[in-house]
Amino acid sequence: MSFDEIVQQCRDLNELLPAQALEQARQSRPGLEGFAVFPVYAPVEIIHAAGLLPVGLFGVGGKLEIVHADARFQSFICSIAKSALELFLRDEMSGFRGAVFSSICDVARNLASLVKRNAPQMFIEYLHLPQNMLNERSHEYTRAELDRFRANLARHVGRPIPDESLATSLKLYNRVRRRLRELYAFRREHPGSITAAELCTVVQAGSRMMPEDYAPLLERLLKLASQRPAHPRDSVDVVIEGAFCEQPPVLLIETIEAAGCQVRDDDLLIGWRWFREDVPVNGDALSSLATAYLTRSEYSSVRHDGASPRTDGLLQRVRSAGAQAVIFTPAKFCEPALFDYVPFIAKLDKHGIPHLKLEFEEKMWTFEASRTEIETFAESMLFE
Ligand code: SF4
Repeated sequence: MSFDEIVQQCRDLNELLPAQALEQARQSRPGLEGFAVFPVYAPVEIIHAAGLLPVGLFGVGGKLEIVHADARFQSFICSIAKSALELFLRDEMSGFRGAVFSSICDVARNLASLVKRNAPQMFIEYLHLPQNMLNERSHEYTRAELDRFRANLARHVGRPIPDESLATSLKLYNRVRRRLRELYAFRREHPGSITAAELCTVVQAGSRMMPEDYAPLLERLLKLASQRPAHPRDSVDVVIEGAFCEQPPVLLIETIEAAGCQVRDDDLLIGWRWFREDVPVNGDALSSLATAYLTRSEYSSVRHDGASPRTDGLLQRVRSAGAQAVIFTPAKFCEPALFDYVPFIAKLDKHGIPHLKLEFEEKMWTFEASRTEIETFAESMLFE
């Protein structure tokens, strides 16, 4: 299979609703059950070690009319919350044992309660991720929270989740995240070799595949990428920031590149490539995951600051990508992204780095206005 064919396969998989994606996975694993993972980060290793397929819950991207969820939420709320709830209200999650949400924002907290009330047959978990990354008890707290999830999930599926299974899952997800880091590095080092739309399509497909199948696919892609001719062009090198939870429509990403920008790095689907290095597999897996969360995870607007502020994280991302500018793509009404926008642009302004903000929502059909904005932004930098 060629590079383009693999990307197309990923695109087709992403087009499916979660239950359809699970159905597809069942073709090679009959009887497999799913477990939905609301962004941003969740310990997918625990879900996989329980014998379930972790499936990213990224909304429905306009594939389903929002009929019931509107009545449960205020109008000024991000699209992903409404469309995720709609899936449960319409009983579109058949084959799923449950879902996990975490403390990323008030919307996600309320959504977890709403889903729990409306899907009483499912196991709905809410993870309280650490608010304080530096306290001497933070590690103990984080490990205990992961252990609570493991125990509750094991009780729900009716079988233990042993340490050996966790270690196997950790190894598999380490392999996946390592390949994703390599793909990202390849894109940074070979501008024009992989488009941002292709890369986010591939990463998203991984949120609906077993890691046993996904890791070899990434390895094949890496091999093919190195044989692919790069098409560098006159463009502004940018970093995309603010797309950590709800995902911008792929058409918007394509528009950014078609209108004169080349994406060198981004925070798209960052929860699925959360750790900057492998999580140690020897010893206590939950302890290793807790340490990795506290000290080796990516900065994000939904992760509390560790030793350095998130603004430094953004600056570092821009510098290591060799980017000239930042394009902020917050989902409409996304509080964490919009709150962080203020300190982020203050930092960028201080360092003379230009930036542009493009808000989006799920039901965005036309990108002409965005295209004009990006073209003007890019031209102002290219021809200044
Ligand atoms: S898009 Fe933003 S506001 Fe909505 S659930 Fe995600 S983090 Fe929360």
